[in-house]
Amino acid sequence: MIRRIVLWPDPVLDHPTQPVVDFASLPPLIEEMAEAMKEAKGTGLAANQVGLGLRLALIGRADGSWFEIVNPEVLSREGGVVYNEGCLSIPGEWHDVPRSLKVRVRYRDARGEEHEIAAEERLAHVLQHEIDHLDGHVYAHHLSPLKRKLIREHMLKKKRDAGRNAR
Ligand SMILES: [Zn+2]
Repeated sequence: MIRRIVLWPDPVLDHPTQPVVDFASLPPLIEEMAEAMKEAKGTGLAANQVGLGLRLALIGRADGSWFEIVNPEVLSREGGVVYNEGCLSIPGEWHDVPRSLKVRVRYRDARGEEHEIAAEERLAHVLQHEIDHLDGHVYAHHLSPLKRKLIREHMLKKKRDAGRNAR
């Protein structure tokens, strides 16, 4: 069964995830996340978006392939840019979000090996969006309180309507 994408607001999306300790448990989880991301046509997916409170995310590349980041840490940021941003957990909404143009990130892969990546533009954007999820922040966190409240209200209505339709 394909894991369902959790919609915001939800406690699992609003709290920081726990660092991964048990790397041996990762392969099946990563496989399930890859399936959910493909199904949803996402360009990235954080573990808490499928209800797993782990510091683990998949990062999609422009060519459709992806790689996993485990226990990532942003080492540095450079420049500023605004992206019109969407999120699988906030479907139907697109908003301009201020981001860094370049980021350096240290992370581990599923085998526990450490890597460092210097990313810019699209890849830097996906990394920032997914690492924010792992820190317990959806992109609305970067918007004004008023915009955040509006998105929250839209989403609560969407969730209520979905609940009604399911009955
Ligand atoms: Zn997202």
